[in-house]
Amino acid sequence: MEKYMKMQFKANIENVSLARAVTACFLVDSDLTISTLNEIKTIVSEAVTNAIVHGYHEDNISLVSITLSLTEDLLTIIISDDGVGIEDIDKARAPLFSTKLGEERAGLGFTIMEVFSDELYVDSTFGKGTTVSCIKKIA
Ligand code: ATP
Ligand code: MG
Repeated sequence: MEKYMKMQFKANIENVSLARAVTACFLVDSDLTISTLNEIKTIVSEAVTNAIVHGYHEDNISLVSITLSLTEDLLTIIISDDGVGIEDIDKARAPLFSTKLGEERAGLGFTIMEVFSDELYVDSTFGKGTTVSCIKKIA
């Protein structure tokens, strides 16, 4: 049977820890190793931070959504915003690319998400928003 949840929260950087905590609670019965759980929480942190910081420039008003679903050993994480969108997705996914270099950003978020995911999809329309979908086997 599929386990499913969806949550929305405001674009405030403090909500990164909310998203991480909710993800850990969602998986509480899944008997994961600490390292797998840390990888999942890192994926959530990176994608949610991007939505808040880049998508909405931390406006504290707009909504980020996180959807989690678990079918047997396959976890799907979808983080979505209706913010500024990404002009060139391939460029954005490249290691060390950032539009906020020098503002504590290293340009490594997508690279880290990719390393910890089995599949990572980025769908974005410039001016309309971004959806990041991750599939991870958790067996
Ligand atoms: P780091 O994650 O290392 O702090 P970063 O956020 O700049 O730095 P990535 O997470 O790899 O690096 O993202 C690369 C670039 O993609 C960002 O600088 C930004 O321009 C763009 N980007 C990523 N997510 C979004 C988003 N949700 N909305 C708009 N732009 C985004
Ligand atoms: Mg980032």
